[in-house]
Amino acid sequence: MSFRCYPQLQRVLVTLLLSTVLFGSCAPRREKPQPIEVPKEKTDTLRTEINKMFPGAVPFNEYTDSLLFFLYAVHRIKPEMILLGQSTCVDDVMNTKSPFNGRMIKGPFNFGGLGGLPFTGLTGLSAYAHHVPDSGTALLLVGPHIGYSMEGGWGMLKREGQAHSSTCCGALVAALTKLQKNSIYRQAPSEPDYQEQTLEQLALRHKGQILKSEVPLVTFTKIVNRQVEKAMSSLPEEEARFRYVITIIAVIINTDVGYPDYIWVERMSIYDLETEEYLRNMEK
Ligand SMILES: [Zn+2]
Repeated sequence: MSFRCYPQLQRVLVTLLLSTVLFGSCAPRREKPQPIEVPKEKTDTLRTEINKMFPGAVPFNEYTDSLLFFLYAVHRIKPEMILLGQSTCVDDVMNTKSPFNGRMIKGPFNFGGLGGLPFTGLTGLSAYAHHVPDSGTALLLVGPHIGYSMEGGWGMLKREGQAHSSTCCGALVAALTKLQKNSIYRQAPSEPDYQEQTLEQLALRHKGQILKSEVPLVTFTKIVNRQVEKAMSSLPEEEARFRYVITIIAVIINTDVGYPDYIWVERMSIYDLETEEYLRNMEK
């Protein structure tokens, strides 16, 4: 049997083919990055280096898998009943490599500005509390990030689509550079660079501790971590319609494209608002 016998069918097929070529190729699409094969020795080296500065850090993806499995298996908390609220840096890498992408959980609701400091204030926390599903779960991921590049070490990162490395967290690196040059002065942060100046003032308050440390950027990142935690501790729960509050105080360690990101969890708790009990409260 030949298509020549079916001129109408032939026309339909040609039209379909042309539409795919013309419109399909014009449509803007984000190319899915090809997975990069990283030799096991290199990922082992990465894990060792990260754990020297952040003992107990684990691949972020594995942590997320275990967390969601544990929440459902032990507490029957379904992913679709969770709203992720994150006070993490505005850096795009926080989203492009986020292990929460493609999960059933809702969100994220973003609190974080530069460095992960929450600049949304009490209004942001209140708005978030009102968005959590009824009888659901508020999952707060709180913390700054730091890059670790196999070539550039701490504070650097090779990003998707770039041949060179860039700083990560750029905002913290910039504040630290100014601190090392003694060019931060005590003053109230102001526009047009309010968020960066807030980080600079924080660095200045801990100048001695940061500059005396082995890796100043790691020390500064951990200081920012505590500051973010403090600012995020006032989630309004009085009129909450949700049941659980899960808080993860952590540092996210971003690595070169193709390598797994890591998470160093300093504290993690699950609080049941109904029974007013901690179901889990872990501290490093
Ligand atoms: Zn950043």
